[in-house]
Amino acid sequence: MSNLKKKVVLITGASSGFGEDAALLFAKEGCKVALSARRMDRLQELAAKIQSAGGEAFAIQADITILADVENMVKSTLEHYGQIDILYNNAGIGRVDWFENHSLERDIDMIIRLNLTALMQVTRLVLPHMLKRRKGHIINMSSVAGLIASPLLASYSASKFGARAFTDVLRREVAPFGIKVSGIYPGPATTEFGQHIGKSETYGSVRKTFDMHMTSAYVARRVLDVAKRPRRSLVIPWWYRVLAAIEALFPVFSDWVLFAFSKINHKLD
Ligand code: NDP
Repeated sequence: MSNLKKKVVLITGASSGFGEDAALLFAKEGCKVALSARRMDRLQELAAKIQSAGGEAFAIQADITILADVENMVKSTLEHYGQIDILYNNAGIGRVDWFENHSLERDIDMIIRLNLTALMQVTRLVLPHMLKRRKGHIINMSSVAGLIASPLLASYSASKFGARAFTDVLRREVAPFGIKVSGIYPGPATTEFGQHIGKSETYGSVRKTFDMHMTSAYVARRVLDVAKRPRRSLVIPWWYRVLAAIEALFPVFSDWVLFAFSKINHKLD
């Protein structure tokens, strides 16, 4: 029997991509899944799909950049299922362009607010409940852009480095109380994420040259593995670990390579 059976999983960003695919997998393992995002129609469709396959799910509409929505999301989950065993902080957005083209509102404030502040806010409201029970697992979605400072992704990379720092600090604070905290660091994957990141010619040609996108279902399967066997971090595909090690140990070398990238691609009018 799966060690996840009957566990309650709260998933943010469950209306598409990794969140949606992970919800299906958690439900298949016998978990009760609380599905949250802004698009209620998508969540209800997903909940119905899970229920018709014999699983347990319910949908909660929440824009997690709004505190009242986060409070309602956590309260509704606790009222509905009585507990939260796993919090999968997954919701996120990005923007691909040279930094001088990032707008303050959509590309800096909103990305930091959703990918970092909201992730911390959701955790802040779920954590007391886990601390009281002396158990729980918090799975935070970062990105390889949270390990490697990536040109074209300034706002996104900043938010994901922040999410990584928060994840590591939290793990060190709550480990003595039986609470596990994991960080997930995927490379590019094909989801709706790509439809909301803007258009960058350079990124488009990098994508064409190195088209190594993972499927959303694959990432979701790996997230499920982490839920079954909690660990501090998961970097996928594995070879990004090598690049992250080079970034950490030889930052001057990384600078040198990425200076060359910018010199070729970053053109001013
Ligand atoms: P999707 O765009 O498919 O999913 C993003 C999810 O976030 C959606 O369910 C969306 O739902 C939700 N969301 C967006 N804004 C808000 C908000 N204000 N409040 C609540 N929910 C919100 O992308 P992915 O599945 O690819 O992305 C999931 C996570 O994975 C993100 O954190 C992303 O940064 C990270 N990631 C993605 C990679 C990729 O290449 N795809 C690579 C590495 C990390 P709705 O619009 O209904 O609110």
